[in-house]
Amino acid sequence: MDSKQKRLAQLPQVDRLLNNNFLVELEKQFPRGIIIDMIRQELETCRKQLLNDPTFEFQFDSFLQEIKNKVQNFYKPNLRRSINAAGIILHTNMGRAPLSLAARQALQEVADNYCNLELDLASGKRGNRYQQVEALICYLTGAESALVVNNNAAATFLILNTISSGKESIISRGELITIGDSFRLPEIMRHSGTKMVEVGTTNQTMIADYTEKINAETALLVKVHTSNYKITGFTAEASLKELVESGHKFGIPVLHDVGSGALIDLSRYGLPKEPVIRESIETGADIVCFSGDKLIGGPQAGIIVGKKEIIQKIKKNQLTRALRAGKLTYTALEATLRLFLDEKTLLQKHAVMHLLTRPLESLEQQAKEIIQELKQSPIDIELQDGLSEVGGGSLATESLPTKMIAVKYEPFSAEQLALKLRENHPPIVSRIQNDRVCLDMRTVREDEGKFIIDALKKITG
Ligand SMILES: *Cc1c(COP(=O)(O)O)cnc(C)c1O
Repeated sequence: MDSKQKRLAQLPQVDRLLNNNFLVELEKQFPRGIIIDMIRQELETCRKQLLNDPTFEFQFDSFLQEIKNKVQNFYKPNLRRSINAAGIILHTNMGRAPLSLAARQALQEVADNYCNLELDLASGKRGNRYQQVEALICYLTGAESALVVNNNAAATFLILNTISSGKESIISRGELITIGDSFRLPEIMRHSGTKMVEVGTTNQTMIADYTEKINAETALLVKVHTSNYKITGFTAEASLKELVESGHKFGIPVLHDVGSGALIDLSRYGLPKEPVIRESIETGADIVCFSGDKLIGGPQAGIIVGKKEIIQKIKKNQLTRALRAGKLTYTALEATLRLFLDEKTLLQKHAVMHLLTRPLESLEQQAKEIIQELKQSPIDIELQDGLSEVGGGSLATESLPTKMIAVKYEPFSAEQLALKLRENHPPIVSRIQNDRVCLDMRTVREDEGKFIIDALKKITG
């Protein structure tokens, strides 16, 4: 036997291993087949290391432990409940809007059972999956017609593809947005088959810039709400009203991509104003699109509203089938939208509206309760004023006053402490400011303080 073979001979046989007590215990919790597959994978890893790394020593105990880790990780859900102490209400990396209770209850009912997704209960024949939620959206926005698709990127794409493929769409250079790391409007336009005609400059676009470019090939005037940035200083933009007036003079429809989409005027609650869908419709936009999981506070979805004739064409587009939403989305969206019917209860019942409007006193009270529980702890804790963000490309440049717990714990840097909090079960996501880990109370639900207390106690041992 050469030395390599000698080294490999240390590796145990799979069938022998199955009698090992440690693995017999593991088999009480997990299927045998999965355990065997993980044993094989780990054996292969060790075999390669034995062959390639002369310093590697095979250790039976750590080998077993690694198998257990592998099996457990295999079963750990990828998406896990996390505590948002980062203070970004529509945190795209944390799933944007948390759903309201009404939406969660509706989901339970529909997920547990069959439903009438495409069944007309009166005739027993095939029905229209859009109908119920569509009527509600029209009621809330004043639009003639509505359609729900996978997300707002899909909505934009479908509108362009249906109305303007092979034709020209005019858009201001100041509105060629990028959202997140993958939605770039010029790319969406290119893929939709429309020819993008850019007008104006980054900071100045007048209505004359659009009208100059209108010709027989023009099929659409596009206005985009620059939801995640603001251009300030020497600026000018053509208003939606001006676009509508010009467009209609030439018989060209106008698209308004409002991105976030507020169903009500948020300034009524002391929040900065975000475009209200109803106002775009009243101003005469032919087609308006927005996301379901930003200020609407529902599931991931793209909502298209506008003229019946145009929506009808979009529905007939084969690609709409590929980008449509599923029954769970319709269910959660409908229940969320219904909350907007009663503004008296909206702020309590709608999760995002509740977070947006939580009074400072209640945030301070919550912070103080957590600090009180940790008064024996060696952690350096301060109550601080701070600013929360709305996020999700809404109210981009605005922030909301908040109360934060700012912590410092000498053995660790702020980055290390933040990592430890993310490694907690459930993970706690914070933000770092002035070398302190800040836990923003605005996005920490009233019943989630206990997780923060437990995590900080655990970290200090
Ligand atoms: C967020 C946003 C989008 C993309 O919406 P998704 O629902 O994330 O696909 C498109 N346009 C604007 C103006 C936005 O704010």
